[in-house]
Amino acid sequence: MPAFKPYPYAYFQKKVVPIENAQISIMTNGLHYGVGIYGGFKAYETNDGVKIFRLDDHLQRMKNSVGILNFPFEFDVEETKKTVLELAAKNKLTSVSYIRPLIYRSDIVLSPDIAGEYDLAIYMMHMPDYFDSAKGLDVCVSSWQRNSDNAIPPRTKATGGYINSALAINDAHAAGYDSAIMLDSRGNVSEGAVMNIFLVKKGKLITPSSDSDILEGITRKTIIELAKEMGIELEERIVDRSELYTAEEVFFTGTAANVTWCKSIDKTEIGKTIGPVTKKLATAFDNLVETHPQYFTKVS
Ligand code: PMP
Repeated sequence: MPAFKPYPYAYFQKKVVPIENAQISIMTNGLHYGVGIYGGFKAYETNDGVKIFRLDDHLQRMKNSVGILNFPFEFDVEETKKTVLELAAKNKLTSVSYIRPLIYRSDIVLSPDIAGEYDLAIYMMHMPDYFDSAKGLDVCVSSWQRNSDNAIPPRTKATGGYINSALAINDAHAAGYDSAIMLDSRGNVSEGAVMNIFLVKKGKLITPSSDSDILEGITRKTIIELAKEMGIELEERIVDRSELYTAEEVFFTGTAANVTWCKSIDKTEIGKTIGPVTKKLATAFDNLVETHPQYFTKVS
């Protein structure tokens, strides 16, 4: 992964500052113990100005995460929305931009505890395509298990939980794969290392249900809504590992990856080209600015 170019201004310690001044101490608690949660969403240039995709949903997921993890931090969705929009306007975003908010434990106390001081930091970067969407992904099923709800709840997007994704991605890359699929503690399919997963069988869409230790992705939610609108049958349920290898189509969803199709799993070919259902949904996803303006918040 390349390092994407950041925009010049960040939000840090309750102020807008030049990005090079948004620096934390090596003693910061959250850096050592992974006590933090983050978000990630995209902004697009449209005929009607720059717009952010599903901003409210992303901020609500952050608020839920703060609540689940019991961070003593007041996360106000409306206020944060205003901050994001002001920062986006100041940075004069162009297509495609990625916005990364982070709430981290900011004090320097040496203890892996939730109680402490927190800060909200936001920065923005240019983000061209994450994966070459024409190519399709060769992936493996990781030998690393997805962290479970009773360990580090995956639905919280906790910073510390991402060591789990890092292990899976590292193993996959070392073995020559593009990315990995993770199984949950019961051995069922959970999700990609940093993306949700969908299978197509007999034209029906299947995705692991939210009790499969997944992050409840906003792109996943959008694809589910699109499928319903398009009359594509959908099942949210437990998915066995062995179902992967006989799927007609498999694709991943995520803010960075959009809809990315899967070419093979553990060297079993899934498809030579993007499948028809994946293609239909990917095209619908690409056209959301025109078809679903209600999903977008304008940066003034
Ligand atoms: N799962 C994990 C573990 C992720 O990190 C992400 C990326 N945020 C996703 C799924 C996809 O979520 P979203 O569509 O909200 O970006």
